[in-house]
Amino acid sequence: MIVAANLKTNLTRKQTKEYIETLDDFVKTNHINQESFVFPATSSLDSYDTDVTIGAQNAYPVQNGAFTGEIGVEHLDEFGLKTILIGHSERRHILGETQDVILQKFNYFKELGYTIVYCVGEPLEKREAGVAEMMDYINAQYRGIDTSYERLIIAYEPVWAIGTGLTPTNEDIIAIHRELKKKSPAPLLYGGSVKVNNAKEIMALQNVDGVLVGSAALKVEDFCQMVTFA
Ligand code: PGA
Repeated sequence: MIVAANLKTNLTRKQTKEYIETLDDFVKTNHINQESFVFPATSSLDSYDTDVTIGAQNAYPVQNGAFTGEIGVEHLDEFGLKTILIGHSERRHILGETQDVILQKFNYFKELGYTIVYCVGEPLEKREAGVAEMMDYINAQYRGIDTSYERLIIAYEPVWAIGTGLTPTNEDIIAIHRELKKKSPAPLLYGGSVKVNNAKEIMALQNVDGVLVGSAALKVEDFCQMVTFA
């Protein structure tokens, strides 16, 4: 089981440091062997001395160069990072990343041997349009992706469930995870309004290999608790 925290544009550098120290202590004290990931805000990245895997929420697919506002591999290398989140719905829908851009990032970081947590998921109108249309939409998010890449982790995150408190039914999660497992043998996480009170149940569902948690991961005590469910 994998439990991952996406801190998004939250927690300052100082808060992130405390967060990771607390989590690291917790994992060590409780002899937790499951892999846990934290994706801090870019300005809170650092060379943390921890058993927790730290990843970047985003980076531009270059070593360095003229890409205002972005960071490149040179910056990730500085912190010894080898894990990246690609295709998150906020980058697709708010920052306007197309599948071509996402694929470019995927291929670049795959070439460098990064662990890639790759997100897919449909907006509400696609879910409401029926299974065929929803799957067409999700299939398009797999376009070009090497689904057999050994360091790939996929996160299914329905856009309408992210930050809304809404989650699909357990039956719906099972059904879609069954379909997505046919597309890739990679570990498959569920994300979207995972909280302390539903994480255990969701992680017990068939073909769910872990969870990617946003808002409910912001309190480190809550995230620690979710880590114990894994
Ligand atoms: P949420 O976000 O847990 O706040 O719904 C999940 C995510 O965006 O990864």
